[in-house]
Amino acid sequence: MVPRDFNPSLIRDGFFVVVKFTAARESKDMNRVELYDTTLRDGTQQEGISLSVEDKLAITKRLDELGVDVIEGGYAGANPKDDEFFRRVQDLKLNNAVLAAFGNTRRANSEASGDPTLQALLDSGAPILTLVGKSSEYQVREVLGTSLEENIAMIADSVRYLKSQGRRVMFDAEHFFDGYKSNPEYAVQALRVAVEAGAERVILCDTNGGTLPSEVGQITREAGEALGADAMIGIHTHNDTDTAVASAIAAVEAGAMQVQGCINGYGERTGNANMVSMIANLKLKMGMDVISDEQVAALTSLSNYVAEVVNRRPSPFQPFVGASAFAHKGGLHAAATERSVDAYQHIDPSLVGNSNSVVISELAGRGNVVRRIRELGLEEVLDREDATRIVQTVKEKEALGFSYEVAQASLDLLIKQSTPNYEQRFELVDFMVVVENRRRASFGTGWRTDGKEHPMLSEATVKVRVGDEVRHTAAEGNGPVDALDRALRKGLREFYPDVTNVRLTDYKVRVVNEGTGTGAAVRVVIESADEREVWQTVGASTNILEASWIALADSFEHWLQKNLTDKAKN
Ligand SMILES: [Zn+2]
Repeated sequence: MVPRDFNPSLIRDGFFVVVKFTAARESKDMNRVELYDTTLRDGTQQEGISLSVEDKLAITKRLDELGVDVIEGGYAGANPKDDEFFRRVQDLKLNNAVLAAFGNTRRANSEASGDPTLQALLDSGAPILTLVGKSSEYQVREVLGTSLEENIAMIADSVRYLKSQGRRVMFDAEHFFDGYKSNPEYAVQALRVAVEAGAERVILCDTNGGTLPSEVGQITREAGEALGADAMIGIHTHNDTDTAVASAIAAVEAGAMQVQGCINGYGERTGNANMVSMIANLKLKMGMDVISDEQVAALTSLSNYVAEVVNRRPSPFQPFVGASAFAHKGGLHAAATERSVDAYQHIDPSLVGNSNSVVISELAGRGNVVRRIRELGLEEVLDREDATRIVQTVKEKEALGFSYEVAQASLDLLIKQSTPNYEQRFELVDFMVVVENRRRASFGTGWRTDGKEHPMLSEATVKVRVGDEVRHTAAEGNGPVDALDRALRKGLREFYPDVTNVRLTDYKVRVVNEGTGTGAAVRVVIESADEREVWQTVGASTNILEASWIALADSFEHWLQKNLTDKAKN
């Protein structure tokens, strides 16, 4: 029994495992595990991760391309950001994934119809609604403070009501494993009523993340047997014992047909099961039909991309996709790998889009630039040597801390600036920023010793040249970057009045080469928008203001280029 997509090069990883595995799942006739991604919901629960609506839409697109089955977009009705996401995502054409919204079962002792959370779920417009409810006796009594019977009714009513409104429903059984360990009958009863009310998946959640893989496997098997062969079980694990992926795999081996996780293992506390590793293991080690070979080969770039968007340094030591995952430093290993590449690596790194040599990534960098040149319609204007030169510039800039993965507008500018007739819309002559916090008569009498707030003063002066004219403008701002932005706008407005349409919508800053303390380079990524488009630009420097300036200048230059070209066309 050979799985679809079986790759002969994987044979050393255990054909035996594949056969055994398939046999164990025979009754379900499935060599298929559903991928349910919750990066946009559970992933954003991790400290330090905050995503704008644009970020969420961009990640949604990439997750869809990756081939995941379900994308959980957020908590319905919990905050305006998630509501806006659910509104705007409806315009996004998804090819593989179905969108899910997350929310609680109805409140205790009330009706399902008219319940605000259930209504918010319906209002999200998401085709799949994932209800989270309690399955642990202790949680019901002590945390929810209601009776066991009422909790069961809450699950049944909520599922039935959402089903009656024509939506697909999945049920996340919160604290399932802890609940099962103390009262298995009740935990299973919670699942059973959800299934009977029409939930198409029941997901066993290790909410506290304290259950080890062997136990997860055993309990999943027992729950499956208790529910019967037709029950579709999912698994949702957290990484508190550093075994989230192993636990999810154990659950799959025990019959689970859906895995939930987050890209790069982001998520509450120590994170959720890492979706990247789960996909690689399911596909490459277990021969499961999850996503296509081409999609698996996109894992490395997707992992890096999401890291950039959440403003984290991609971990070089992340299994499968980290820069060091297949690097060989030891002399013996390096020599051995020269004789036989397979000697010290568990898979061919290219299967997940990774590599153990610099050459391949350089080729990939060139490929990206060439593709972008084509997309911009500049292949007639820029030849091979131009492309090589641009790749070289990109590399030099990346060494300084720039990253173009999440700043396409800056990459586009780099490319366009290499064309012979490029016309720079403005040029910065110089800038100066003053930040002051000093004693002023109108703001009390002491240096922050009087308990009153003393606002900081930020003022920027900017000198720009447009054509032959130079303008010198000054502006105060909310902070130094805001002051720079205002001063620059003021200068440009005279020449390009429409520039007031450009809004700064997000600003991210990150140290890119740790270890050198305050002398380290910082990367600034700015998101800007007008009424039609959103774009990102990047700057890097050891000086945060210079980095911000570079990103700001790119943003305006991008907008002016596009806008003036569009105008010329009309
Ligand atoms: Zn969770």
